[in-house]
Amino acid sequence: MVLRIVETSDPAGTESLGAEVAAGLKEGDVVLVRGELGSGKTTLVRGAARALGVTDPVTSPTFSIGHRYRAERVTVSHLDLYRVAGLEHEDPALLADYLGPGRIAFVEWPSQDHGELSDARLQVTLSHRGGDRRRIELGELRGGERGG
Ligand code: ADP
Ligand code: MG
Repeated sequence: MVLRIVETSDPAGTESLGAEVAAGLKEGDVVLVRGELGSGKTTLVRGAARALGVTDPVTSPTFSIGHRYRAERVTVSHLDLYRVAGLEHEDPALLADYLGPGRIAFVEWPSQDHGELSDARLQVTLSHRGGDRRRIELGELRGGERGG
């Protein structure tokens, strides 16, 4: 279900929206973050992580599938599954360290290969709108309607 559609005109606007999203999250929550390369997924996660108390630089995971940032009240996980789509069968526990109690997880490039993500609560979908403009759709997920 679509909750909200927003258009931002710069990275700061997208970070602010991330902070708003973060304000509604609780530990154990998983947020799927979809959209083409450069659409602002990592930028949005950065804003959310900041709002959750992360002070370390939030950067795109490159040499691993994700980063974990410890904040005061929660650990913020940031996963980028771009390169691991389809590998889940080889290691079903791949995501286990990033999800679950005490953690709030943001997942870029989620896929249906990752069954653990079927519990995700929110989905953010970003798209390019020319220049620095981005359309950002916030959606609520219920079991079985998360799409691929
Ligand atoms: P993704 O993770 O989707 O590949 P990033 O967040 O890493 O995207 O990069 C988005 C790029 O687009 C950054 O260089 C950012 O500065 C730029 N940008 C320009 N306008 C916006 C906007 N409105 N929202 C988010 N990023 C923007
Ligand atoms: Mg990214």
